[in-house]
Formats: sequence, C-alpha cells, structure tokens
Amino acid sequence: MIPRSTGVFTREKAAQNGYGKEEIVFFERLIRDFFDFKFVLGAKFSFRPPKTIVIGPPEPFSRLLVLHELGHAVCGHRDFRMDVTRLKMENQAWEEAKKLAVRYEIEANEDVVQDELDTYRDWLHQKSRCPICGLTRFQTPDSQYHCPRCESF
Ligand SMILES: [Zn+2]
Ligand SMILES: [Zn+2]
Repeated sequence: MIPRSTGVFTREKAAQNGYGKEEIVFFERLIRDFFDFKFVLGAKFSFRPPKTIVIGPPEPFSRLLVLHELGHAVCGHRDFRMDVTRLKMENQAWEEAKKLAVRYEIEANEDVVQDELDTYRDWLHQKSRCPICGLTRFQTPDSQYHCPRCESF
C-alpha cells in the first residue's frame, strides 16, 4: 500500500490519497473561498483550532464532512474541553455545514449528520455515567466529572 500523503493540501497529494477530480476541484474552491483557514490532508476529518481543517481519506460523504469541519472554523470554535459544550459545538458546526452545502450544492445527507451526532451523544452518555453507581455525573469547568451521589463537596 502506498503511504497516505499528509500535510498542506495539494492537488497531487489529494489524488495520491484517492480523491477524484470532482472532489479535488471542490476542495480547491473551498480553499480559495476560505483563504483565512488552513487545509491539510490527514488521517481523519477534524478541526484543529483555531484555523486548521484536516481532510481525511476519501469516503462517500467526504465533501459534507469537510464542510462540517469548516463549520467549526467558521463558528470560531476554540475550547473543546467541556463535553456538553462540545455537543453544542457539533450541532452548530452541522448547522453551518448545511448552509455551506446549499451554497456548494452538496447533498447534506441527514442520516450522516444524525449518525455523526449520535456518536457524540453516545460518547457523552458513556463518559458522564458514574462508574460506581451508574448515575449521570456533571462536569465542572476544570473538565472533571463529579457524581452527585458518590461525591460530596
Ligand atoms: Zn465536529
Ligand atoms: Zn456515583
């Protein structure tokens, strides 16, 4: 297997990673339209605050996933520490992605959006459960979880 190209987006690297012409043209259009942000190729679609959008390997909804990460950037998301805030940010970024999808005539597949959000909901639910008693814990601004039953302040 040819190793995946990472780093600053170029047409050649994207092609090497398996992207087709149409997707590459789309990414280049985004890069032109959002020249304030930095687009790089990487292992996973993600947003690195404050300005870096990571384009993961090709998948059926690559374009929509990039719009979502761009959504985080456009919304000015910074602090991903608080988990409840994180879920709110994921929602916001998808709302922004849907607006961008209209502009770029990309299908904003609602199943994809809900699946992605579900992974965060599940993750949040898992993380917030008290491992001792199973009660839902709450998070303080230092990002620590506390169980109202097992811990007293
Ligand atoms: Zn996100
Ligand atoms: Zn507990």
